Formats: sequence, C-alpha cells, structure tokens
Amino acid sequence: MTAMKRRYSASDVANAQFDKAVRFMHLPDDLVEYLRTPKRELTVNFPVLMDDGRMRMFTGYRIHHSTVKGPTKGGIRYHPDVTIDEVRALAMWMTWKCALMNIPYGGAKGGVQVDPKELSRNELRRLTRRYATEISILISPEGDVPAPDVGTNPQIMAWIMDTYSMHRGYSAPAVVTGKPISVGGSQGRIEATGTGVMFTTIEAMRHLGMEPGDTRVAVQGFGNVGSVAALRLWEQGCRVVAVSDVNGGIRNPRGLNVRDLMRHQAKSGTVVDYPDGERISNYEVLTADCDVLVPAALEGVIDEIVAPEVKARLIAEGANGPCTTEGEAILLERGVVFIPDILCNAGGVTVSYFEWVQDLQAFFWTEDEIVERLRRIMLENFHAVWDAALEKKIDMRTAAYTLAIGRVVDAVEARGIYP
Ligand code: NAD
Repeated sequence: MTAMKRRYSASDVANAQFDKAVRFMHLPDDLVEYLRTPKRELTVNFPVLMDDGRMRMFTGYRIHHSTVKGPTKGGIRYHPDVTIDEVRALAMWMTWKCALMNIPYGGAKGGVQVDPKELSRNELRRLTRRYATEISILISPEGDVPAPDVGTNPQIMAWIMDTYSMHRGYSAPAVVTGKPISVGGSQGRIEATGTGVMFTTIEAMRHLGMEPGDTRVAVQGFGNVGSVAALRLWEQGCRVVAVSDVNGGIRNPRGLNVRDLMRHQAKSGTVVDYPDGERISNYEVLTADCDVLVPAALEGVIDEIVAPEVKARLIAEGANGPCTTEGEAILLERGVVFIPDILCNAGGVTVSYFEWVQDLQAFFWTEDEIVERLRRIMLENFHAVWDAALEKKIDMRTAAYTLAIGRVVDAVEARGIYP
C-alpha cells in the first residue's frame, strides 16, 4: 500500500493550492510566475562543537518567499526531515497567511536538519547561535523576523535574539518573536496559535450548526499548537476523544481531561502512557470517530490513503499543509469543510506581529488586550473567507488564497516592478 503512495513534496502541494486559486483570478501569466517564485534562498552548512569535543556538520536554510508587503516573517524548524523543498513551501504559505490576516509582512521560513532531542542543552545553544550567525545576513528587525516552529521554543528564540544583539552591540528584541517575556516577548504568544485554532473552529462549528457539548474532537500532535488547541476546545465544552504525539495516540470516547493530560505530558514527556485512555496508533487518531479533526503535527499526513477513512466533517488545520492535494480532493468530494492552515493557525503570526510592534515601541500590552485583538482579527478573516467561499462557490482554502493573493497583487501593482 505504501509503495503506491506518491512521493510527497510540500512545495508541490503549496504550488497546487496556489494554481487552483489563480484559476479563479484572471491574472496575467507573468504576474503568476512572479508571485509563486521565492525571492531568495539561503543554504548554510556549518560546524558545531559537540560535548565530546568532536565537530559535527549541520545544514540549515532561510528562505524569503516574498518581500512585497513588508519585512518577512516565518518560523524556524528544527527537525531531522527538514529539506529545502519543505522550507520553500512553508515560506510561501507564510506569504499568503500574512496577506490573508492583513498584517504587513512578506513570507519566510527557516530550518535546520537536526533532531533537537538528541542534543544536550549546550549543544543546542551552540547550534542555535551558529545558525543565527549564518543567517544573520538575512534577519533583522526591519528585514526578516523569525519565530518558533516545530522543534524550537522561546529559549531558542532568546538565544537568537542574544546572538544578533551581541553582533550589533545593542539589544534588538524585535529581531525575533516568540521570545520569553523577560526579553521582550508578548503575553499570550505561546498560546496564540492554539487559541486562534479554537476561535476559528468554534466559529465554523456555529456556522455548521454544531454545538460544543455534542462535538467530539481528535487532535494529532500535542505540542505548542495541538495541546493548546485541545485545551481551548475542551474549555469551550467540546469532548476531546483522541490525541497523539510522535510516540502514538490515546483514545477515550467519554472525553479526556485535557488539563490533566497536559500536566501528565509535562511530567512524562508523552501522552501515550496517560492512564485514563486506551493506547492507539497515530493513524487511528486521524481516523477516529469524531466530528472535528485538528491535525497539528507535520505536513502531508492526510493523504489519499488516510482521507477515505477520516470520519470528521470539519478539519481545522493547526499544522501547516497537513493535507496532500489528493487527500484534500477526496474529503472535499465528501463535503468535509476545511479551515485552511493559512487561516486556522494564523493566530501565531498575528500575536508575533503584536510582539514585534510592542518591541519596536518598547510599550507592552496586557494579555486581555492581546487575546481580544487576536479574537477580532481571527473572526474578521474567518468571515471574509467563509463569505468568499459561499459567494464564489469555492472551497474555503481556495477562497482564502484568492483573498490573500489579491492583497499581494494590490501591493505589487502599487509598488511597480523595479527598476
Ligand atoms: P511542536 O514541536 O511544539 O509540536 C509538534 C507535535 O507533533 C509534538 O507533539 C510531536 O510529538 C508531534 N509529532 C511530530 N511528529 C509526529 C508524527 N509523525 N505523528 C504524530 N505527531 C507527531 O510544534 P508546533 O509548534 O506545535 O507546530 C505544529 C504544527 O503547527 C507545524 O505544522 C507548524 O508549522 C504549525 N504551526 C506552528 C505555529 C507556532 O506558533 N508554533 C504557528 C503556525 C503553525
């Protein structure tokens, strides 16, 4: 069965989504070519001194997809499977996500091929400082502002901020977002992506006539995005019946106590040995008996093999690109509704934008202000996408893309083509 699967390329998926949307937009071919092409791509190969005294080579990337609408924004991923193709796709998704949310950024992404769990804290710090130095020709508060993604966290962002600041000779908190509060981080940033997933999911449920009390949710991935999305949906009264992490999944049809599960995971490092649930596989989480599925791990997990078995009628894409082109086609055919990644998980970049604005002004907002502004922006854009989908009779992702691409096109037209 696996042998029959198509080779997965995140860039192919990103390009297919883009191509599908531009078919509804009547744009000239040369402009389409410009919009889809990454502006610059940096590959860095660099040595890191390991604790045993030996040197090990690592490969990393930083890609700017578009700078048309402002400085570039996008996370940094530490994962053994990072490739330039993946970073390229993630950078393009950032362009559309920022444009859709109406925040004045272009799209970027970075990554290092590394399993951070295999490194000691000191090795991780040295790797981060070296990678930050290698990509320092691209990052700056005015030019390109990284943030956390899979495998990175506020501590790693603090090291990047410190490294950049040491090179400059003054502290530059606005060079990176998702930092700890003590060095210019924002209230609510850690929870922002998961909270945004909740806002859009509850709104979609309302439009689909689904009551939280009668709604069963399955969540794949229990990291920054998945755990908070699960918690927030549980707080809204939804029944979280299955969750997973890289080690596998657990199920409890009566509903998991998500707060307790988070405490358990913090102690044991995984969800799979949680006592109040039956152990299941990751595949069984994706195909669990549920009404809402929140994929919040990595790309390409809902493919043509998984899609026919998915039971959910609403998919809230916490992760970037969790669905392949073939998987999505199968689910759309069945009438499954998607909250597309560039909308669903945009809470993270939105509060990153708030963090950057606060850093530049050295004036900080309360958590209530952050969450309220986030709620307003998420709902405003949810409704824009929902209405565009209804009006043009297209799916939610294609509607989101047409809005986002249209905003970038407006900026291209206003700026003109240099020289
Ligand atoms: P994370 O590293 O905090 O968590 C990832 C989770 O996925 C972990 O629980 C891990 O165990 C699990 N996982 C990894 N491989 C898996 C597998 N094969 N099967 C099942 N689970 C697996 O990462 P994160 O920041 O929560 O990011 C998750 C997704 O959300 C990514 O697609 C990321 O690009 C996207 N995203 C993150 C943010 C953010 O603010 N952190 C914002 C927008 C989008």
